Amino acid sequence: MGRIYNFSAGPAVLPEEVLKEAADEMLDYKGTGMSVMEMSHRSKAYETIIVEAEKDLRELMNIPDNYKVLFLQGGASQQFAMIPMNLMKNKVADYIITGQWAKKAFNEAKLYGKANAIASSEDKTFTYIPDCSDLPISEDADYVYICENNTIYGTKFKTLPNTKGKTLVADVSSCFLSEPMDVSKYGIIYGGVQKNIGPAGVVIVIIHEDLITEDTLPGTPTMLKYKTHADSNSLYNTPPAYGIYICGKVFKWIKNMGGLEAMKVRNEKKAAILYDFLDQSKLFKGTVEKEYRSLMNVPFVTGSDDLDAKFVKEAKAAGLENLKGHRTVGGMRASIYNAMPIEGIQKLVEFMKEFEKNNI
Ligand SMILES: *Cc1c(COP(=O)(O)O)cnc(C)c1O
Repeated sequence: MGRIYNFSAGPAVLPEEVLKEAADEMLDYKGTGMSVMEMSHRSKAYETIIVEAEKDLRELMNIPDNYKVLFLQGGASQQFAMIPMNLMKNKVADYIITGQWAKKAFNEAKLYGKANAIASSEDKTFTYIPDCSDLPISEDADYVYICENNTIYGTKFKTLPNTKGKTLVADVSSCFLSEPMDVSKYGIIYGGVQKNIGPAGVVIVIIHEDLITEDTLPGTPTMLKYKTHADSNSLYNTPPAYGIYICGKVFKWIKNMGGLEAMKVRNEKKAAILYDFLDQSKLFKGTVEKEYRSLMNVPFVTGSDDLDAKFVKEAKAAGLENLKGHRTVGGMRASIYNAMPIEGIQKLVEFMKEFEKNNI
């Protein structure tokens, strides 16, 4: 069987070139006689892998020298706790609730201090991003938290909130490396890599040096202190070594594609194929207010649960997989991350046209 077009929200499609390269190196990584999976994380060969991965990521995102890059474990969800444990000096933080991931982070923060929901788009099932130009930011807030791209609902912050001088923390799991971003505007940028960068098991944290201190909440485990990992360049204990190796390959793939500017152009072109079709379709309808549409996750519905189910089933038979919407939302969702080829989206739209013709 050949490869299908995989529209999964995560773990998700990876560049075929990267998978082939990893396959070629599986038994013997560059003459070491072993797989990266079998290699000591203290070896020379592995050191080169992790150092180069960090260097390439810094180059891609133009990360200033006063930020650390950490390769950690525990998924994005572990950051929901690690952020308050490390940053809540005043025990106050402000959260902007734009979907379930933001809400989960918000609920976790409540375990450690006073978390305030200062804006929300829940009133319209998270189909938009609230106006964040003049929010009631708490005077003593340790940080303001956003989920920059909402994987489940398909919205994205097009402008960052006005934090009135407070530290901005952003979960970018599902838009990581999809377009350029100004790292200097954030205190922390983090994301699980299984959406747009690599295999599950790695979370990347880009953190301003000033936020890395010994002064964490009492009882914070050693493993959950940013300082532990920053001091040892992500090698305090055994890191998710193979996952980081694949991330490194994806960084090189993006560099070869022309970097994040080129990624953005490509992603806009890809997303437009699908959105343009949705905007004129008589059967399918996008669920998100236009100005907040994500380039990465595109939810849509027919208006009938039966037709939705039929669509997902027939699409799968046509080699277009994982189009079922999130279990809490229903309908369909096409996740069209960096590694989704333009042909995949063209094929999806062709299929939707045909389905529309036959079912209207
Ligand atoms: C998938 C996802 C998460 C959860 O990631 P895990 O690695 O499974 O913990 C968090 N935030 C966003 C935006 C996501 O898309």
